[in-house]
Amino acid sequence: MKLKLIILLLLALVILLLLYFFPLIPSGGKLSLQYNAEVDRNSGLIKISIKAENIEGSKVKFFAQQYEDWMNIGNLIAKDARGKELDVNQNSVTVIGDDFEHQVYNYEIDLSNAIQPITLFYSVKPGSYGRHGHRGYLSKEFGLVSAGQLFLLPETRQETEIRIQFNAPEDWNVVVPWQKKDSFYSPELLSASIEDSMNNTVIAFGNFTQKSRIINDFNVSVFSFFEWPEEHKQLISENAFKLFSYQSSLFGAKHENNFFAVFVPFAEDEGKVFGGLWSNGLGFEMPSSIERNWELYSHRIHHVFNAYEPFGMKEEGKSRWFTEATSSYYEIKSLSDLNFYDFNSHMKELYQQFKAEQPLFPNSILSEDYKKHYSELEFLHYRKAPIVAFLLDKEINLDEFIKFLYSKHGSNKNSFNVKKELEEFSGKSFDEFFAKYIEGTQEIKIKEFE
Ligand SMILES: [Zn+2]
Repeated sequence: MKLKLIILLLLALVILLLLYFFPLIPSGGKLSLQYNAEVDRNSGLIKISIKAENIEGSKVKFFAQQYEDWMNIGNLIAKDARGKELDVNQNSVTVIGDDFEHQVYNYEIDLSNAIQPITLFYSVKPGSYGRHGHRGYLSKEFGLVSAGQLFLLPETRQETEIRIQFNAPEDWNVVVPWQKKDSFYSPELLSASIEDSMNNTVIAFGNFTQKSRIINDFNVSVFSFFEWPEEHKQLISENAFKLFSYQSSLFGAKHENNFFAVFVPFAEDEGKVFGGLWSNGLGFEMPSSIERNWELYSHRIHHVFNAYEPFGMKEEGKSRWFTEATSSYYEIKSLSDLNFYDFNSHMKELYQQFKAEQPLFPNSILSEDYKKHYSELEFLHYRKAPIVAFLLDKEINLDEFIKFLYSKHGSNKNSFNVKKELEEFSGKSFDEFFAKYIEGTQEIKIKEFE
């Protein structure tokens, strides 16, 4: 009897040892990812853990959606269910970004001897400086990041369920437009991809005053830095609502979704702070109510309806200039329509800038913009394109054309050709207009702004 028990115990031990060295390959199923972000305002670090279960295959590659210098990933390790450290093969790809070269990192984890769930641990230090200021930021006062600066994603085609949890200091709030269930957020957003949501959603930490309003079915919330004077918070939330209403009404867009606008102070070094922008929100500095910031805000809201998933539109490559043409033109048009300032004087200023820069890019063609690099792109998108939009507004009613376009192509249905749409809308030919200004380099002269 005793012998039998000893044999059974030995057998059990052998099975356990075998399982340890040759774990069963998981039987498939939904990949479950549980993210935890711990905000440490004293060190300026955000500590991330990702618990992953049901990964198919013997390797898994986690990748950064944003640039290494925007994320500043440190100390990445991976462990399996027994706490055994797994081999991580790190490699990087160079990407030409908006203004300079960036590194994007991949972390390949060997799962051949791992028992799932596995957990990745790393830290992120947001705050490097880019075109719009600090790309993400965390200080003792507040934090502002985009989700892509925090979360690595696995490269797998498996069906995936993502749950996200934040651990912020007790006296701080977490501001994120995702839906919350129990203590977890879900990045799923209508028909947009989870990748987009995990990359572009803006997240803020700290103390904010929230004001909310339903605008064209959107639940718009404006979060202003708590310590600012009441009048400043009141003014910026009113402006943010007004411009959101202007832009969504311009497109005739109505969607039931959260939109969060977060406004923060300058960084400690007096630098600008930019969290990012997408269809569910944006965040940047607004320590005083300056016109240029409202132009940028208006431009960014315009993109919710003419570019970003899931509510935006999709122009063909050769029509891409039009996305920036109306976004940049309506910076000025929206602010003047809402009596922030005078239309003609601001258009004249833009026209003078355009004239001054034009000699630098004499052969620059709008419909070829997608082939261009940054400084030329900046001229095409932010100088020439809005001037051409102004000319277009003289030919047709641009407000009405935008509504027409959105009713046909809103929410990313099909890609379309702007010229064809213009001709359908107006019933006249745009051959000459396009030959001169879009596909050619005809000199633009606007008498009233000379
Ligand atoms: Zn733009």
